[in-house]
Amino acid sequence: MSVTPATVISDPRALSEWSAAEQRAGKRVALVPTMGFLHAGHLALVREARRRADRVVVSIFVNPTQFGPHEDFARYPRDLDRDLALLAPLAVDVVFAPEPAQVYPAGFATYVVPEKLTDGLCGRSRPGHFKGVCTVVAMLFGMSRANLAVFGEKDFQQLQIIRRMTRDLWLPVEIIGHPIVREPDGLALSSRNSYLSPAERRDALALSRALTAVAAQFAAGERSAEALVETAKSVLATARSARIDYVEIVDPETLAPLARIEREAVCALAVFVGRTRLIDNRRLP
Ligand code: AMP
Repeated sequence: MSVTPATVISDPRALSEWSAAEQRAGKRVALVPTMGFLHAGHLALVREARRRADRVVVSIFVNPTQFGPHEDFARYPRDLDRDLALLAPLAVDVVFAPEPAQVYPAGFATYVVPEKLTDGLCGRSRPGHFKGVCTVVAMLFGMSRANLAVFGEKDFQQLQIIRRMTRDLWLPVEIIGHPIVREPDGLALSSRNSYLSPAERRDALALSRALTAVAAQFAAGERSAEALVETAKSVLATARSARIDYVEIVDPETLAPLARIEREAVCALAVFVGRTRLIDNRRLP
């Protein structure tokens, strides 16, 4: 396998100029936005981008505006050298790793504020989170001039909000969703899994087990969201260090809560395992 180190760029202007030159040469540019501390889930998104475009940009930026005042911005794991080593075999062209002051220079005054799709799920428990996400993603689209961008279904609400933003604001970017990548035992990969103690790591399995139990009950014919949510909650109750933030069954497009599942739905949950907030979801059927 050829190992070509990516060019690391921190200046947004330099990224924009590089991308414009590639596009003048007829190349399609893909963007994979991340907060770094990469894992196999991120790498799957990068491979998807590689398949779909001529040039691949991976951004690594722990975005301060999407963290609440009592959240984990300061202690969020960061290791650029490790990330670059993980990306080296994947033929990434550019790693864009700006400093906060380059993304939010003095005088910065414009935000993208999503509505409606933010009413439930993580939008309810993390006020302002998706405003920070949409703002930085819109900026990353602008800086990278991406023709397409790949996002994980792990952050299901985020993916739908970004699809909506891209449509509503006529951003010329194709949005690609990628299925959740899991550990062999079912735990959805997340940079935040690195916070978990061994006991919490075992308890964290309750998230995927709860979703599997919901899917089994759905397959057996249950269509009441209340009954399915109760099933998930009873599985989560078996994990001592787990505290439920939410378990909801929603329409996959509008994210509106459903009472009965008539067509498609997604069961999404957020759970604190110790101090670590984890999310997971599963489509039904
Ligand atoms: P993050 O670094 O956590 O902001 O995630 C960057 C991108 O990777 C987002 O589009 C996430 O949805 C995606 N992602 C994170 N974890 C996973 C996973 N386990 N499977 C698929 N995509 C993921």
